[in-house]
Amino acid sequence: MFNVPKSKANVAESNFVDYVKIYCRSGKGGKGSTHMHRAKYMPKGGPDGGDGGRGGHVILRGNRNYWTLLHLKFNRHVMAGNGENGSQNKSTGKKGKDQIIDVPCGTVVYNAETGEYVCDVTEDGQKVILLRGGKGGWGNVHFATATRQAPDFAQPGEPMQEMMVILELKLLADVGLVGFPNAGKSTLLASITAAKPKIANYPFTTMEPNLGIVNYRDGKSFVMADIPGIIEGAAEGRGLGLRFLRHIERNSLLLFMVPADADDIAKEYDILLNEVVKFNPDMADKTRVLAITKCDMLDQELMDEIEPTLPEGIPHVFISAVTGLGIEVLKDILWEELNSEKNRLLDNGEELAHRSKEISYMRQEMEDEGEAEDILPPDAPLAYEDYSDEFWDIEEDLKDFK
Ligand code: GDP
Ligand code: MG
Repeated sequence: MFNVPKSKANVAESNFVDYVKIYCRSGKGGKGSTHMHRAKYMPKGGPDGGDGGRGGHVILRGNRNYWTLLHLKFNRHVMAGNGENGSQNKSTGKKGKDQIIDVPCGTVVYNAETGEYVCDVTEDGQKVILLRGGKGGWGNVHFATATRQAPDFAQPGEPMQEMMVILELKLLADVGLVGFPNAGKSTLLASITAAKPKIANYPFTTMEPNLGIVNYRDGKSFVMADIPGIIEGAAEGRGLGLRFLRHIERNSLLLFMVPADADDIAKEYDILLNEVVKFNPDMADKTRVLAITKCDMLDQELMDEIEPTLPEGIPHVFISAVTGLGIEVLKDILWEELNSEKNRLLDNGEELAHRSKEISYMRQEMEDEGEAEDILPPDAPLAYEDYSDEFWDIEEDLKDFK
């Protein structure tokens, strides 16, 4: 088999960043005011303390102009503003400033301390509140009753929330190319899209995934992703395959590619499929198409000989990215499969579910990705500062004062 480089140095140096750890903190709610109204000839003016303002949220927003998570490496502490305290005259405190984090579509968020799946952002403009700002506390005006006309207390604001998160990018494409190194994936992408992937006759030329738009008839198009070679054992963490498999998890269709000169095409296909399913069992349900590549090396007679040995139950096509053989047929098949009802990724709500990660696995992963370092802000932990025993439950209060 191939000599797999153990080091991921090339990946680390690349600008294609698909894994980042950041620290996020929402703002705390402002305190309610305990102010008493004071005016001439009105010694007992009653309470007029306003409510505290809400703390700022930390919000994720899908942005199609971003293709990687690189920008987040330069700002690892995302902290929203605190709400201001309420004041006299029933004045409500100002809201804390929300912090918006722009992310590429296809970003998935995990809690870095537990491995739990938190949320994902799939669409341009989609906003997800990652951490809520604390609610502002009630001012003393809310607490006046017939028997307690001058409450000298108010409610503190809710605390902030903080979380160390891992953001992971899983590219969104319609078709993911699956094949061993040298199968001809990059060449295909280069020949049918405007993408310009590196092509060379040695494994692991493709160190980062490439996306390309395939133009189909009548101005229709679909997105194809070239993913660096999967090798046998990728699902167990060997080689680069595993690292990049995450990018095909989301593809709605998998195009398996096996070169015509492979010793046993059916067997090679089985190995590839096995790797993909081991990585994520849900992938077994994905629609697959098989392309036998480099068929300019075969004549019709040889193709006829290979035909009966091909795996059953999967559409196949003989192609050559060099001569253009079978390319139009391939596009037709892909388009048809992409548009068949059963393969609609977004419409049928059957997107792949993201699973939480086992924490020991997560720690290893952070280690491998060079994201294990401690990134707590200098003033952390702060979340429960001044609230430990003072805080009141706002919902409880509502019950009493409605
Ligand atoms: P990848 O590793 O799957 O991305 O494979 P590449 O696209 O980098 O191709 C590997 C090698 O196969 C290169 O030397 C290509 O020139 C060659 N190749 C790719 N497609 C074809 C084809 O259709 N016909 C022939 N004869 N060679 C091809
Ligand atoms: Mg390649």
